[in-house]
Amino acid sequence: VEDCCCDYETVDHLNGEVLHPILQELVKTPFCRYYKTSFFNCFGQVKLWCDCPFWPEDHMCRLRDCSVCECPESEFPDSFKPFQRTLLSDDLKCREGKPQAAVDRTLDSKAFRGWTETDNPWTYDDETDNSEMTYVNLQLNPERYTGYNGTSARRIWDAVYSENCPKYPAEELWQEEKILYKLISGLHSSISVHIASDYLIDEATDLWGHNVEIMYYRVLQYPNRVESLYFTFLFVLRAVTKAAEYLEQAEYDTGNPTEDLKTQSLMKQLLYDPKLQAACPLPFDEAKLWKGRRGPELKQKIQAQFKNISAVMDCVGCEKCRLWGKLQVSGLGTALKILFSVNDEENLVQILQLQRNEVVALMNLLNRLSESVKFVHEMGAAAEKLVQRRMHYS
Ligand code: FAD
Repeated sequence: VEDCCCDYETVDHLNGEVLHPILQELVKTPFCRYYKTSFFNCFGQVKLWCDCPFWPEDHMCRLRDCSVCECPESEFPDSFKPFQRTLLSDDLKCREGKPQAAVDRTLDSKAFRGWTETDNPWTYDDETDNSEMTYVNLQLNPERYTGYNGTSARRIWDAVYSENCPKYPAEELWQEEKILYKLISGLHSSISVHIASDYLIDEATDLWGHNVEIMYYRVLQYPNRVESLYFTFLFVLRAVTKAAEYLEQAEYDTGNPTEDLKTQSLMKQLLYDPKLQAACPLPFDEAKLWKGRRGPELKQKIQAQFKNISAVMDCVGCEKCRLWGKLQVSGLGTALKILFSVNDEENLVQILQLQRNEVVALMNLLNRLSESVKFVHEMGAAAEKLVQRRMHYS
């Protein structure tokens, strides 16, 4: 994989044998499955549509949340109760208000302890404690087809690519700029793969399944999009392994000792797997970047661009897509923070500070990328054959 230190076969093998099975278990644990986020419409807050910093003029943000909150009030922790829950009037409902775009907010009232709130210079909003935020159970809200498309979705992707990271390969681009482009393109490929792998085939019978054509036409027919997916996976994997000591010692206390021990054990298995260390000890070499005279200036510029991308996620016009868009961009921001904000690897454990939400985002992002890599590896050849056969007979 270009700019990485592992080839495709090794990645597929390691992912299938080691990473994917561990990650699938890890993201189910109480620590990893609850993500803190803001859903103002649940409580009829004044701030309802106001946190999209772009395009305020055309009410784009009114489309952002795609459903009325369905959860019974009894499921919310006591601290949320003072807010009056009001239903939204019809005209505020999202155009893409399909049931599959709504986030299931079923909660349990587990507490999280031992994590500090620190700023990430790479991301726009840090999930600091405030009463307008709530936890969602990610296991109940898988990233999949939601029906979100059209002008709103296109505008987000256009903004992300054209305003924040110029198209690659332009000869004059610095390696660091290409890397930003590849991270975004890799994430985009992964989102498309998840749409294709969990698609609403028949709305009338609520039949879900694979849509190999979408997978082929959006991802597989472009080798550079597949490459970006593998690149992003290796980049995030490197961040996780670089922070191994920190993640090993972190607090995973959710009030359920059996589950919390399991989280710790799975984390260790992932971080120190002997097969991973033997076959791909350095998935990406960050030490090569930001060298030369322009290094610091370039870093500032790319940091600002990534922060913009992070802010654009508040404008995604579908609730579930926004949840996963924000989470995965926060996961990328966490990877960037680990790789580029701490140079002193020996003392990383003393210097690095992550929020609980950042770790949750990082591990769920790695899992999503691992699922996409596995799906591309297993379905890729079959999808190509099927599409070519269809083209032949049509
Ligand atoms: P799009 O995927 O919208 O792509 C737009 C353009 O970007 C393409 O025409 C192409 O020029 C370029 N492009 C496409 N892929 C890549 C790539 N990998 N690298 C570089 N350039 C590329 N929909 C869902 O159903 N479920 C979701 O969970 C979901 N999450 C989303 C999250 C975000 C943050 C956004 C912005 C959108 C999300 N969507 C989701 C919508 C989905 O991504 C598509 O926008 C939508 O399905 C329409 O697809 P499209 O074929 O028009 O191309």
